[in-house]
Amino acid sequence: MKTLAALALLVSTSVQAAPADEARTLLEKSVGFATVKGRGQGLAYAEFLRGELLAMGFAPADVTLTAKGDESRLHAVWRGTGEKPPIAIISHMDVVEAKAADWTRDPFVATAADGLLFGRGVADNKFDLSMSLTAIASLRREGFKPGRDVHLFFSGDEETDGLTAAPQALEAKAAGVVMVLNTDAGGGELDDAGRPLGYGLQAAEKTYADFTLQLTGPGGHSSRPTGDNVITRLSAAAARIGGHKFPVALSPITRGMLAEQARRRTDALGGQIKALLANEQDAAAIAALTADPGTVGLIRTTCEPTIFEAGHAPNALPQRASLIVNCRILPGTDVKAVQATLTELAGDPAITVKPVSDWPATPASPLTPEITGAVRKAVQARFAGLEPTPDMSAGATDSVFYRAQGIPSYGVSGLFMRSADAFAHGLNERVPLAAIAPAVEHWRTLIRETAK
Ligand SMILES: [Zn+2]
Repeated sequence: MKTLAALALLVSTSVQAAPADEARTLLEKSVGFATVKGRGQGLAYAEFLRGELLAMGFAPADVTLTAKGDESRLHAVWRGTGEKPPIAIISHMDVVEAKAADWTRDPFVATAADGLLFGRGVADNKFDLSMSLTAIASLRREGFKPGRDVHLFFSGDEETDGLTAAPQALEAKAAGVVMVLNTDAGGGELDDAGRPLGYGLQAAEKTYADFTLQLTGPGGHSSRPTGDNVITRLSAAAARIGGHKFPVALSPITRGMLAEQARRRTDALGGQIKALLANEQDAAAIAALTADPGTVGLIRTTCEPTIFEAGHAPNALPQRASLIVNCRILPGTDVKAVQATLTELAGDPAITVKPVSDWPATPASPLTPEITGAVRKAVQARFAGLEPTPDMSAGATDSVFYRAQGIPSYGVSGLFMRSADAFAHGLNERVPLAAIAPAVEHWRTLIRETAK
């Protein structure tokens, strides 16, 4: 009996596809679900992933699907020995809308051409979702037993409302999760010859916040001006806000990012970045970095007027004017403090300043030896000597909800590609087929290192 069982095991192992083939199949199947909000396939994809997890040997009791249409979410627990507190790996299942008529190929059929795999979500975020899941499957087959529980959270609406990640972050907190690996951020960049330019370990995000400024007045006939025009007054406020410079504040993460930029650049801006790193008060350097769209967001909070609406007729004094101001707030800065600055800049007690969106403000996650060591090992297994650099992104991922709960969260994607191939959210989204095998290996290393 024993011999037969061993033989059966041998057979089942040998028919198992190589992890890279397995990962590609999972990615291709994943792209086939049009998980765009409103298309109604969110639950079907969550059910599909649940089936994958059960096939990998997860106990049914450890896989929880919360079914709610396109706001469905999935949570699974890979049981460890419990020697250390749990960690989590998070991904989102939804994708940005793609209009088939605009694409060269059907966006919801994964199609290989010219060494690339095309499809909506093939990069963001179904690539790393599939790579990390395949890595887990292969580690489980090999008998790897984590020293801690590894929670998997799959959210359903990261690209739109972000309603599914908030409760998941609470579940993570309740389960005692102490660190999150986010598959949806970080990653490597290649040059045209396939050489690595760098790897970003995302440890912070700017807080996204919109504010509405509004002013109303009695209006009247435009032939009899009253000297009190709400457009004139709100425009003056918009100009003051647009001209305001929030204070420069560097963190260990943005210092690391700027140092990496300085290392890569050979132009004048590179010199100014070095000057700012040497002296945070260097006025010429501040002016140069502020004038460059690639660096302005790294050194300070920014607020820009983005929508202005006012008036109702060409021959009437306006009765209402409203302005939307979009702010990207440095980690650690209170949203309320930014609101207070906008109120002060508006300089008019009649102008109301109200927050529109309610994204949580989040601290930067500390660059601990545990995470930097694991990422360095994964990255250097592929490119010897390549040192990961910390990264702060301007956009918001699901990490904000975990950081808001006090759980450090790191974007550690295994995808290396040329910036010329990066079309996430855009037309003809693609990944190189050659990126698949090393990305699975990246996740295997990361998981072995962080979950051991
Ligand atoms: Zn994403």
